[in-house]
Amino acid sequence: MRDWPLWTLRWPALVYWLVVDLAALGVVVFVIAATPTPEPADVGRFAAIAGTAGAVIIGSSIYSHHLGETERNPWAAHLCYLTAGIIALPPNLLVLLLFGPALHGVLTQRPESHRWLFTLSATALAVFATRFAYGWTEPSDSIYMMVAGATVLLVVRAGLIAAGLRLRKPGAPFEETVGEPIDAILGVVAVSIGGLMGCVATAMAIHTLVAGPPMALLERAAQLPQWRRSAQRDAKTGLSNAVHWDSRARAELAKGRGETRAMAVMLMDLDHFKRVNDKLGHLAGDAALAAVALLLSSTTRRGDLVGRFGGEEFVVLLPEAEPAVAEAVAQRMRHAVAGLTVPTVATDGNQHTLTGLTVSIGVATTDRFGYDLPDLLVAADAALLTAKGYGRNLVEMA
Ligand code: GH3
Ligand code: MG
Ligand code: MG
Repeated sequence: MRDWPLWTLRWPALVYWLVVDLAALGVVVFVIAATPTPEPADVGRFAAIAGTAGAVIIGSSIYSHHLGETERNPWAAHLCYLTAGIIALPPNLLVLLLFGPALHGVLTQRPESHRWLFTLSATALAVFATRFAYGWTEPSDSIYMMVAGATVLLVVRAGLIAAGLRLRKPGAPFEETVGEPIDAILGVVAVSIGGLMGCVATAMAIHTLVAGPPMALLERAAQLPQWRRSAQRDAKTGLSNAVHWDSRARAELAKGRGETRAMAVMLMDLDHFKRVNDKLGHLAGDAALAAVALLLSSTTRRGDLVGRFGGEEFVVLLPEAEPAVAEAVAQRMRHAVAGLTVPTVATDGNQHTLTGLTVSIGVATTDRFGYDLPDLLVAADAALLTAKGYGRNLVEMA
């Protein structure tokens, strides 16, 4: 218990996460104690909703395993049938429905099980807040109440989770805490299908099965953001990969051409990187690449495009930079890399703090080379070669 990753949280996050977990536990205990034994019709509706959801989620898990997917977002599907439960089931059977995501967390053995528990607790609180808004004993069937309830569910859940993630990592970008627009769309689709499922279940339990196919489609669609990220990002460094960087840079240059905005492309290559691999091993080399990537992302401005060009080469497009500014930015990056310390584990298994990394940078600007990406890259590459020739750890303007 002492080595649980939960204890590595910053203390405001730890307190908040525990409060959310305990509040959810309290609500669940209260609901179980305060709700009368369900009627047979309720149990039938529960079986129809849980059976449909279970078949979809298990089927999708098998399919996903078959495809070799290692990371999945199952929350859209969970939100879908929980919404149906809010409409069609008494609160104690709703608790039973929450065993779905709980079981999912246990079975998939997530590396951050405390995060799963926190998300589950936030979901449980949002679910019961929504049920309370709908009508605790007799849920309303008015369309206005349904829309309001769906909004409560999505907003309360997202708010509780975003606050926890923000406390855990105060500087985290908006997309990491609140999510991307596609997450909001998936949420709306999930509660819409769930709403229909709940209405159908209320009228005739067995008809709930019809919700299976749309729910399966939702489950697949929920994997889209993950697929898009892996298609656009370089797995080792988290930066844009070369193909994605290329298309973003071209789009940005086309915009800049229209506005005759001063822009610059920087190509950088780590100096004598082969020696790092030879001395400490490739895993240490990878750690150094990841550290440089993080440094580049954090020393550039929002809107600057940083990408991994190839092996130990990085590329940056500065969408608004006069030549003197571009040179200053490149010098700042060169200094930052030189000051980097990277904790690594060498091939002998010992900890080793890697220092003394340097980088050579070639910079090409649109005022000399125009707005065509290949011309800028060729010029930046030639300048980079010159910097290497002059002895490395240098910035060279093309
Ligand atoms: P120079 O100063 O001339 O650039 O010397 P260098 O050793 O950095 O250049 P060279 O092109 O000879 O070697 C680049 C090395 O980068 C070779 C390769 O082992 C290493 N490298 C490329 N991609 C990766 C990677 O993803 N991980 C690791 N660990 N090393 C990589
Ligand atoms: Mg190199
Ligand atoms: Mg190289």
